[in-house]
Amino acid sequence: MIEKLTDHLPHISCREATKLISDSMERRLSLKEVILLKIHLGVCELCRRFKKQIKSLRILMRSYSPEKENVLPETWKNDLRKLLNEQP
Ligand SMILES: [Zn+2]
Repeated sequence: MIEKLTDHLPHISCREATKLISDSMERRLSLKEVILLKIHLGVCELCRRFKKQIKSLRILMRSYSPEKENVLPETWKNDLRKLLNEQP
């Protein structure tokens, strides 16, 4: 079933795949985009690595940008407040 479905979908290039990966950080991908990306990630190790990297990069960026404090888990917020309060 899945094999038949993927037979009809175009294979995307690494460039398109990395763009979809970046896009997926900003917006929700459509079902077609998710499937296309999954097919590509299934065959391309480079893009799998790229996806891993961008994920950890994103987590880092989030934890360091103060205006996005609201996305941090509550426990992190408490830890941050403690740290801030401890500073002179
Ligand atoms: Zn690729």
